[in-house]
Amino acid sequence: MNILIAEDEKSVRMMLKAALRKTKLKPIIACDGREAWDILCARDDIRLVLTDWMMPEMDGLSLVKKIRERKSEKYTYIIMLTALATRHNMLDGFAAGADDYVSKPFHISELLVRIRAGERVLKLEDALSEKNEELTNLNKKLVGLARVDALSQIGNRLAFNEEMEKRQAEAARYNRGYAIIMCDIDRFKQYNDTYGHPVGDKLIRLIATTLKEQLRSTDQVFRYGGEEFAVVLPEQDIEGATVVAEKIRAAVEGKQIEHKGSDTDTLTLSLGVAAWQNYGAQERNQTPEQAQEQECEPEQSEDVIKRADNALYEAKQSGRNRVCNA
Ligand SMILES: [Mg+2]
Repeated sequence: MNILIAEDEKSVRMMLKAALRKTKLKPIIACDGREAWDILCARDDIRLVLTDWMMPEMDGLSLVKKIRERKSEKYTYIIMLTALATRHNMLDGFAAGADDYVSKPFHISELLVRIRAGERVLKLEDALSEKNEELTNLNKKLVGLARVDALSQIGNRLAFNEEMEKRQAEAARYNRGYAIIMCDIDRFKQYNDTYGHPVGDKLIRLIATTLKEQLRSTDQVFRYGGEEFAVVLPEQDIEGATVVAEKIRAAVEGKQIEHKGSDTDTLTLSLGVAAWQNYGAQERNQTPEQAQEQECEPEQSEDVIKRADNALYEAKQSGRNRVCNA
């Protein structure tokens, strides 16, 4: 470990250097506070500072203050050397951020003990920040995991809700509309009953992959519930979204997945589509700003979801394997 020594008296510098020879510390010498500060600014491998109080150019107190003011990731441990004349000022030194002090003239053994205490503090600090970093990384991982559906490896309901919040905020603010597609596997319960749950799980994964294949890079697919998926399509109107939904429906049908429990022996999807509406503005032929002035509330995301759900229900009621839009 390096130790920066700031001391203007040559004889004291020599003594300190000699004392440190008994340790594994590597002394770096500065003849005043200014030089010490320049060295600290130029390199980032100095954690331990031993500084005299009274020095030309910049005194020890100013040096301590400057060290504490800088933005440094790692802690710097500072020991001040104080002559009798400055000892009664030591409170100022601690207030400025010094960790310890040694009186001048000093006993080498006392100085070494205090330096060792500083090294211990730095080691503990390093261990703590390492643990902290581990925790931060783990936390980041957890935040991600909490939003991924374990079975299908696509976004889960929480991720969907967050995406909808973003879309809704953009829509309300910039009139950037969005559409959603609710997709539900037809007769999934019968599928599970016929083929067993492990095969049912595999099917969920296959449908998730198939959905992803049909989307633009800006669109996102989520597992909404058991056998229900939700697709969010930014800046897409109802016509465009209906085309995408039809593509998805055809892609799943095209896979020709056997489903003995269904009407057609083939596994299919039903889909409901809805696009966000800027109610007031559209009806009155207004810009979003004009609508806002007259306090015409734009449609809320819950209502878009509800309309897509209703459309999905209609698709189911009218015979499944089809797309209905709201
Ligand atoms: Mg001095």
